[in-house]
Amino acid sequence: MKYQKISQFLYCYKRKNDDKFIENIMMNVKLDLEPLHSWIDYQQKPLIISGPCSAESEEQLMETCKALKALNVDVLRAGIWKPRTRPNSFEGYGVEALAWLKTVKEELNMPFAVEVANPQHIEEALKHGVDILWLGARTTVNPFNVQEIADALKGVDVPVMIKNPINPDLALWIGAIERIYNAGIRKMAVIHRGFSSLQSSKYRNIPTWQIPIELKTHIPNMPIICDPSHIAGTREYLQEIAQKALDLNYDGLMIESHRDPDKAMSDAKQQVTPDGLHDILSNLKIRIVRNQSQDVELINQLDKLRESIDEVDRELIEILRTRMSLVEQACEYKRENNITIFQVERWNDIFRSRSDWAQKMEMNKDFIAEIYKLIHIESIRKQTEVITRKEIEMTK
Ligand code: PEP
Ligand code: MN
Repeated sequence: MKYQKISQFLYCYKRKNDDKFIENIMMNVKLDLEPLHSWIDYQQKPLIISGPCSAESEEQLMETCKALKALNVDVLRAGIWKPRTRPNSFEGYGVEALAWLKTVKEELNMPFAVEVANPQHIEEALKHGVDILWLGARTTVNPFNVQEIADALKGVDVPVMIKNPINPDLALWIGAIERIYNAGIRKMAVIHRGFSSLQSSKYRNIPTWQIPIELKTHIPNMPIICDPSHIAGTREYLQEIAQKALDLNYDGLMIESHRDPDKAMSDAKQQVTPDGLHDILSNLKIRIVRNQSQDVELINQLDKLRESIDEVDRELIEILRTRMSLVEQACEYKRENNITIFQVERWNDIFRSRSDWAQKMEMNKDFIAEIYKLIHIESIRKQTEVITRKEIEMTK
């Protein structure tokens, strides 16, 4: 379990190595896309898409979207058909809600984006003047489903955004992009909304930033939008995720907002009021890319590799933190059972096995041995600290 995080993190690389076919496809994705600013009118980067998770009534939609327009949000969003884990949950108002959306769109004169999951949704959405379609995470995951949608899109000139699949599988994400592209769609963007995972995380869906970063290395001209709402799961984390996305030079943000988030019929905890969105947007630090005139595709390879290295380091530190908390638990157990902190057999075993593992992975075993010496020193220090603290507490 300890290594689950690392192995999940390396999942997309492993698949590539295991499967030359996938690797070849992934290395050769050359898409002739229309640039984002040619099909969405936005003032400046980042493009902001916002609106409720679900359209719940015409009044809810109108009140929320009016406030968003006042914030200069570029594109509105609303869920019309909601993919829910269990039946009998609120599944969206469907076509009825499309009529509200049309009224709001016409009154506010703003573009609207909607999730579609099958050809009927596409037909209805287009009939009601929806400007941008997106494929949700539960759709991207299924190639049959994506192909059905791609077939329905043939001959239609509509922008399509593709969320990442729920599982951390870059090839599947790229496959969905290719299917939609092969249908003739040239106005495309991807949305990064995080991945389902068994590992515990403060977020609802772990971001695993390495995957979208890698997607950009394969398709450098693909616009990328971050959806902090579905990564976070709770509104308190929206700011940090949005900032991270901007630091990684994402093109835009999709953030769910609702006039009364706590009463929302879906995703209540992660939605913010339009005022809340205003605070998030005004706290964002827009960092200037080194050479402002350069396009995303021109950011040099070194910068991308450095971003990947930063991300790996963050994950490494998180894993070390998890290790240290396990050590603390073991220490507590030792204290209760009067076992000494340092046990030479256990230490020798760790020292030997880790060096062996490293060697098998074609890494320098002395390097790993050095790292484990430091880890061991810190682990003894921490355990001594915990025991001393407990003993002081007990004598009080
Ligand atoms: C949504 O955007 O409301 C949604 C259902 O998102 P996802 O597909 O990312 O779960
Ligand atoms: Mn939602």
